[in-house]
Amino acid sequence: MIEHTISAALSPQDELRFQQELSVRNVRQIRLISTAAFVIGLAFAGLEVPSVLDGSWQSALLLIAWAAMQVGMGTIVFMTWRPGGALLLGSTVFWANMLVVVAFVLICYTGFALGWRRATEELLLLVFYLHAFPNMTTRRKVVLSSVMSTAFLIVLYLSDARWGLQIVLIVVFINIAVAALSMSLESSLRDAFKRRMVLEELALTDKLTGALNRHSFMDLFEQVQNAAARSGLSMGVLIADIDDFKAYNDSLGHLAGDEALTEVAHVLRAAQRHDSDLVVRFGGEEFVCVFLRQDLTELQVLCQGLVDNVRACKIPHPASKTGPFLTISIGACLQGNPKALDRRSLMTLADRALYKAKSDGRDRVFIAQSED
Ligand code: GH3
Ligand code: MG
Ligand code: MG
Repeated sequence: MIEHTISAALSPQDELRFQQELSVRNVRQIRLISTAAFVIGLAFAGLEVPSVLDGSWQSALLLIAWAAMQVGMGTIVFMTWRPGGALLLGSTVFWANMLVVVAFVLICYTGFALGWRRATEELLLLVFYLHAFPNMTTRRKVVLSSVMSTAFLIVLYLSDARWGLQIVLIVVFINIAVAALSMSLESSLRDAFKRRMVLEELALTDKLTGALNRHSFMDLFEQVQNAAARSGLSMGVLIADIDDFKAYNDSLGHLAGDEALTEVAHVLRAAQRHDSDLVVRFGGEEFVCVFLRQDLTELQVLCQGLVDNVRACKIPHPASKTGPFLTISIGACLQGNPKALDRRSLMTLADRALYKAKSDGRDRVFIAQSED
């Protein structure tokens, strides 16, 4: 199962997470490269530009293109310093470098018109610069270097500078060689990322039912409280317990019991509406759910719906005291101020409510009244 998941392509959201992780992890290196390039760009401008400026429109264009190139590199430097900027570095690096590449080709075009006869070092420097970004995917590097090579070829043609053809061949070869290297590195990083995702998922979820496990519930509860506080919704805490499940196992066997557990988990999970809604297999045949809802009426409707939906699955239960099919009982409580009671107190309230639902005859909901 793990190998299968690793060979599968990442979903668009996970791909974004992967690229964000590369940016966040390598933010210092990205800053180093873009700062160095910015400084070298300024130095080149100081050394080369003044001698060719002659007041023509090409001189003006050369200055504008050079400024645009510095803006491209400077934007990346700026983003590496901004709080939270690292998360946006994926597309910033790509588009800022697109500007750098286009500006560079324009610099060559105007420079050739003003008398430059070569651009070899600069072109090679730019190839290394592009490939050095550890957060850029190979595909994006290839797009940038292809745009650069093609545009440079056009400039050579327009400037009648046939001497540059062999430089383009060298640049294309370097690009292919470095892209191959970067592709193998990227695929190892992606595999490691997928492996970690699978392990995280295994550590967080219950294998049989796919619900969260008890351990992850402890970690996630605080996040749900915060989400409830942000959204202004109330927090409903439910404990759902299968009725007469021991008798179910005794009459139909453990395997059938496992299937029934999975089906009940499926019904509970289908009620998740917000990202922060949790369905947890707390132990045995007991599930704890946290659902953010508007008020007590909504919670009541939700819980009754869950009890009805499990009964409507019509899972035969020959030893049930409540009827011919498998049923659940739910104890719940609702908290308007999400931080008023801690997890333990809420669980105790819901547990008492469950006891009441069981003692009232099972296959029903009981909601505890909380003070807040
Ligand atoms: P009540 O209506 O009062 O909840 O009665 P009950 O029989 O459901 O409760 P009890 O706590 O006596 O029994 C729980 C049963 O759940 C006992 C155990 O065999 C079963 N169980 C717990 N975990 C699993 C599991 O992973 N698979 C299966 N098949 N059964 C499980
Ligand atoms: Mg039970
Ligand atoms: Mg139980």
